[in-house]
Parts: sequence; structure tokens; C-alpha cells
Amino acid sequence: MFPEYDIIVVGAGHAGCEAAAAAAKMGSKVLLATMNMNTIAQMSCNPAMGGVAKGQIVREIDALGGMSGIITDQTMIQFRMLNKSKGPAMWSPRAQSDRMRFAEAWRLSLEQTENVDFWQEMVTGIEVEGGKAVGIRTSLGITIRGKAVVLTNGTFLNGIIHIGEKQLGGGRAAEKSAKGITEDLKNLGFEAGRMKTGTPPRVDGRSLDYSRMEEQFGDENPSKFSYADTEPLQQQRSCFITYTNPDVHEILKTGFEKSPMFQGRIQGLGPRYCPSIEDKINRFAERDRHQIFVEPEGWNTVEVYVNGFSSSLPEDVQLKALRKIVGFENAKMFRPGYAIEYDFFPPTQLNLTLETKLVENLYFAGQINGTTGYEEAACQGLMAGINAHNKINNKEPFVLKRSEAYIGVLIDDLVNKGTDEPYRMFTSRAEHRILLRQDNADIRLTKRGFELGLADENRMKAVDKKIKETAEIIAYLNNKPIEPGDINSMLEELGSAPITEKQRAGQLIKRPNVEIEHIAKAVPSVAEYLGKFKLDSVEQAGIQVKYESYIEKEHTMASKMSELENYSIKGRINYRDIPALSAEAKEKLLKVQPETIGQASRISGVSPADISVLMVYLGK
Ligand code: FAD
Repeated sequence: MFPEYDIIVVGAGHAGCEAAAAAAKMGSKVLLATMNMNTIAQMSCNPAMGGVAKGQIVREIDALGGMSGIITDQTMIQFRMLNKSKGPAMWSPRAQSDRMRFAEAWRLSLEQTENVDFWQEMVTGIEVEGGKAVGIRTSLGITIRGKAVVLTNGTFLNGIIHIGEKQLGGGRAAEKSAKGITEDLKNLGFEAGRMKTGTPPRVDGRSLDYSRMEEQFGDENPSKFSYADTEPLQQQRSCFITYTNPDVHEILKTGFEKSPMFQGRIQGLGPRYCPSIEDKINRFAERDRHQIFVEPEGWNTVEVYVNGFSSSLPEDVQLKALRKIVGFENAKMFRPGYAIEYDFFPPTQLNLTLETKLVENLYFAGQINGTTGYEEAACQGLMAGINAHNKINNKEPFVLKRSEAYIGVLIDDLVNKGTDEPYRMFTSRAEHRILLRQDNADIRLTKRGFELGLADENRMKAVDKKIKETAEIIAYLNNKPIEPGDINSMLEELGSAPITEKQRAGQLIKRPNVEIEHIAKAVPSVAEYLGKFKLDSVEQAGIQVKYESYIEKEHTMASKMSELENYSIKGRINYRDIPALSAEAKEKLLKVQPETIGQASRISGVSPADISVLMVYLGK
């Protein structure tokens, strides 16, 4: 019934879709086997892509030739560049998505990808011969052969949904949980664990009073995720902000005795940084309000996502509490919030290619590895798809370094440090974040994607042009003299000291409040010159000139780090004598007594900042 596939991808969530698309585009014959074809690329939780550190990941996926950025651009309803007031390492694109269109666009894109076949069924086991994965077994008792298997089961493995005292088997609301795979993998010698996550209720937007909430608009000139020629938004939908209050908290407390979390019915650890509303009022009892983002689920639907109100309390308590929120007095609930517990596999059982150490040609990607988030899942799927393809074609493994990409940081953290709570990306996890910006992901990675056969020639040409234009603009700015008479009134407006003699434009841009666009606004010849180039190249040149010394320092640090990977430190440092080390790092370093700096950097609880402290101590 089935041919032998090159690669079988199990699960069509964010990881599975990227894995299938990447492997197929690189030339593998792919089967995407998933329980329900109507939920391909379903956004299980909030209808949004990107955000702090996650937005950078989506841009990296895009630069390599993945699809998440393009799908997001095609289906977003609002775009914001977060953290614009901070340095460019923190700028993070975030889009509010149309949930239904996002899933539809992914499905249509996969249907149009040559080499992708589909099969809708629950996969119950992995076929292994001679220590190698050679296929899958399904609930209908079918065996399908494949040279490599990528598992992306998300929250479905033995999933249990909790709402108050009720427990339902399920991988997501209204969807079955997946049985068989965990047991099969345990028999093969894998270790499994349990995690949990939660989601808020969805409400009927027609029942809300938006006039009592604060409107949150998208960016005036919205940007986008993909470096390809997707269109930026012409119109956008607003989100709204409101707050909980002591009345809301009092009502929520009436549900605590039925809370699956507080009563110990949930065993798995949840994401510390995405606490439920009951968790927030319990942990931060002194706070009398918490922010709620009221987010539309699409262009046309009236369904609204209540961001910040994740809950697994009984549904009647959720509704009563919701109705005490300003603007929600008449709220009608479409779906209650819930928590879900599921199996994951500690990712220390993987190689950096995401291939398992125990079974060759078997790859894990996404939430199955203990991560949380669409972006984290999608980038792992992409990397697993690439590596599975390369492996069966006897090509080199594709691994990104921590200094090359957030994707490299994520996989290195997972594989080397593991995680005992759902892992999400933060900018603070990336020690070289000054280099890993959303504005330069194409410069960092498109060539790599092109060499893999993923990013197409048009993308490569566009990046080459951007690199060339950026260099030209930098040379111009570093040479262009600016007269005091041309710039001083602008400098005054910006609160920057006037100049008394002419200065190079590049020097002025290094000042804290002065940006390339200010110089262009004040000096017509600069504006005319810059007008010849693409906006992306101008922005890139501005960033590179302004942050030149930081970027150079970071490059030096990154190459030092790679040299120091094997630098022996055993017995050479008394960690107690270094006050600048964090208490946690001190404790862990004393306990582990790492052999090398590389090993020290991979100890959970030892941050990149702690490693910098050690390097200073060693005079490196
Ligand atoms: P999923 O998106 O879960 O996709 C798994 C896919 O595999 C599905 O298509 C499923 O049908 C299929 N599948 C599973 N088992 C089998 C099988 N045996 N056979 C065939 N097909 C199978 N992330 C956040 O960042 N913040 C949050 O607050 C947050 N809250 C969440 C709340 C809930 C209730 C849930 C369910 C998820 C939440 N997430 C959250 C996580 C986010 O949805 C996931 O991280 C992301 O979707 C994981 O992608 P994935 O591809 O690994 O798996």
C-alpha cells in the first residue's frame, strides 16, 4: 500500500510541518503521518508568532529557507516590533495571527510541496532493526517503511486534560491523546518524563465592551517576518488591554480546592514563565491586578483569546471570575481554559543533530523534547528534517553554533543541559545575542540554507545585495562630513550636544540618541544618497556603525569561547573566591568541578554571564 519513504515525519504540528517541508525540498520522499489532517499546524494556544527571542528564531528559520515566517506574513492580522526602545539585540518581531488561516496556509503550502505524501492515522510504534529506525506502525496495524523517522508528537503522548476536578484523555481540547509511542520508546531504553502546560478560555468578542479597555494598535509601518518578498500588512486589527482586580481574585480562590494543580493531581512541571492566573494570584498575593491582553483570533471570527488568564480551575469559576474583569461583564465563554499533562523525552538523549543516541535514524523535534512554543518547535523540526535528509544521503550533519543562531543556543542547551521544565527561549540564554539579531538572520544564515539546497537563489541574491549595499553605506557614513550648521538644530531636538566643527556622519550615529534617519532628515544630501538603497540595507548599516565596538567585542568573545572550549580548568579555580559568580553557579561549579570551560558552560544553572566572569578571572 505504501512505498518505502526516505523520511517519515510523525505529527503535523509546527515541528512536523517544518521537518516535512525541509526534507522534501531537499529532495527526500516524505510521508507526513498525523492523527488529524484538519489540525495541521494548529496553534494550540495563543494565535501569535514571534515575540522576544522567539521572533529572532522565526527570522532564522526563514533565512535558512523554512516556512514559518512566510506563513506568518501571509496570515497575520497585526504586527509589532517589540522592544524598539532598547538596543537592536532586543528588537523582536511579533505577529498576531489569524488562527484558522495560519493552519490553512501551512496545509496548502505542504500540499503544494513536491515529495510530501500524507497519511491520517495514529502512529503507535517505531520499527527498529539492528539499532536503526526503519519505519512506523499505526493503529490500523499498518507498517510503513522509511529510512529515517522524525517524531514530533507535541503534547499528545498520553496527554491528560485537567479542568477543575475533571480529567479527560486528550492531546489538546477535543482531540485524542496518542498511545503506544512512549511505551515503545521506553522498551527501547529511552527515559520519559512528564510536563504540563495550560491555556486560557476563549470568549465571544460580541459580548465584550471594548470601549472600557485600552486599545493596542499594530505598528504604524508594519514590518514582516520573511526576508522573501511577502507583503507587509496594509490594514491591521487591534488588540486590547484590561486587568484583573481583587474581585476576580476572590472568585478564582473559591475554585482552589478543586484546582488540579493545588490539589496535586498534576505531577508534571509547568512553564515557570507562563503561569496560570491561579498561580499568579497565589504566588504574587500582594499584587491586586494582573494584565490581560484581549486578542482577536482572526480577521473575521468573533472568537477572542484571553491572554494572561490561563487556568485549569472549574469552568464555572473561570466564567464567574472573567465577568468581574472590566469590559468582560457580559462575557460569553466559547471554550474553557485547561491544563494538559503529557510525556516528553529528556533531550540529553539526543545528539546535536536531534538524532537519538540510542536509535540511529530516529529524530525527535518540538515539544516532545521538553520545549514549549511554536517557534521553538518549528526550528527543531527544520533542523531534524535537514539532518534526517543529510544522514540518509551520507552528507555532513548540520549543526549551528551558539554564536551563529538562537537555534544553535536552543539545541545546545537542550542536548547538553537538558531541561526539567518546559524550555522556552529568552534573549538572556544567548551569550552572543548582540550578534544574533533579527535584522541580520539572513546575513548569518541564508548562505548556509542555500548550500543545503533549502534557501533558493533569489534569497541568496537578495542577501548578497544587502551585504554589498550595507558595506557601501558604511563606507559613505564613515567618510561623509557633516557641518555644524546642518545638524545642530536636530541634535538639540534630540537632546544631544551640538558640534563645533564638522564631524563624520558615522561618528554622530554612535551617539546614544542619534540614528541614521535623523542625519538623513537634517542633511538632504545624505537622504538623497541613502534613497538609492533598500531600507533593510540602510537599517543594517545604521546598526553596524552605531554598535561597531560592541559587535567587534562580541565577535572576539565568540572566537575566544570556541578556542577555550577545551581549556582545562580542573583544580585551578577556587569558585568560593569569585564574588561575581551567581550563588547558583558557585554551588553547581563546586559540585561538578568541570574539566574544561566548555563543560562548565553546559552545566545547568551556570549562565553565559558566569562564564564571562570565569574568563576574566583566568585573564582570558
Ligand atoms: P504540536 O503542535 O502539539 O503538534 C503535534 C502533532 O502531532 C499534532 O498534529 C498531533 O495530531 C500529532 N500527533 C501526536 N501524536 C501522534 C501520533 N501518535 N500519531 C500521529 N500524529 C500524532 N506554548 C507557548 O509558547 N506558550 C503557551 O502558553 C503554551 N500553552 C499551551 C497550552 C496548551 C493547552 C497546549 C496544548 C500547548 C501550549 N503551548 C504553549 C505549546 C505549543 O502549542 C507547542 O509548543 C507547539 O505547538 C509544539 O509544537 P509541536 O510541533 O511540537 O507539537
